[in-house]
Amino acid sequence: MNKQFKTVRKRGIEWTDFTWNPVAGCKHSCRWTMPDGSIAECYAETVAERVAQAAYPHGFEHHYWRPEILDEPLKIKAQSKIFLDSMSDLMGHWVPAEEIERVFDICRQAHWHSFQLLTKNAPRLLEFDIPENVWVGVSAPPSFMFGKPLSADQQKRMVKRQLEVLRNIRVPIRWMSIEPLSFNIAPLLVDSPLEWAVIGAATNGPKTYQPERDWVLNALKVLKAQGTKIFFKGNLDWPLDKWLEDFPDKPIQIPAVSVV
Ligand code: SF4
Repeated sequence: MNKQFKTVRKRGIEWTDFTWNPVAGCKHSCRWTMPDGSIAECYAETVAERVAQAAYPHGFEHHYWRPEILDEPLKIKAQSKIFLDSMSDLMGHWVPAEEIERVFDICRQAHWHSFQLLTKNAPRLLEFDIPENVWVGVSAPPSFMFGKPLSADQQKRMVKRQLEVLRNIRVPIRWMSIEPLSFNIAPLLVDSPLEWAVIGAATNGPKTYQPERDWVLNALKVLKAQGTKIFFKGNLDWPLDKWLEDFPDKPIQIPAVSVV
């Protein structure tokens, strides 16, 4: 498990304490078209194939199951936020249900932590009984998946379906990563079930591309009107992050009755 140390926090994942990847590798092959026409690849893929090759000997688009690290969260005694699929998509269609159940079983046992899950395959969430200490999240659609472009209409339908799925899941925190905010997503978020949202700019390596101001303001208007709390990524270069950041700094308190 990797602790997000302070020196890494600003460049890495700012909203979590640890990453834990008993399932790793991903076949979604997400890509984003940048405003200058360049194509950004998945950050996890870049890390796996350029920095951590030893841990990904068959490349990133391969399924890795690491039962030897399953009990890592149980060893962390302090309440923490743990991102459980920073190097994969736990709900990916290729991940065996039995592995997902084993991951969720550890989440139940480690009831003092909050586990953060993020997926681009939201419909599969409905196949599982998700522990209450898992924050169930969906990611805004990229420009390409599985090597094919997603049209604006496909992106809209994907968001609509994601939110429909979240409406049918009963956990304390349902959330959405809108990073990058690459289109005017606000109209799709009206009456959403989101408790939290993360909003960020587009990045391709060291380059950052800011979203259009109206897209951000429209999203803010809709999300705040429905009580969705917002975390602004550090890659947004506006002062908004100073006065609107509202992400929880404490894990969820789980009622004793739900602890396994
Ligand atoms: S689903 Fe996540 S981990 Fe998988 S390719 Fe897309 S961004 Fe990367």
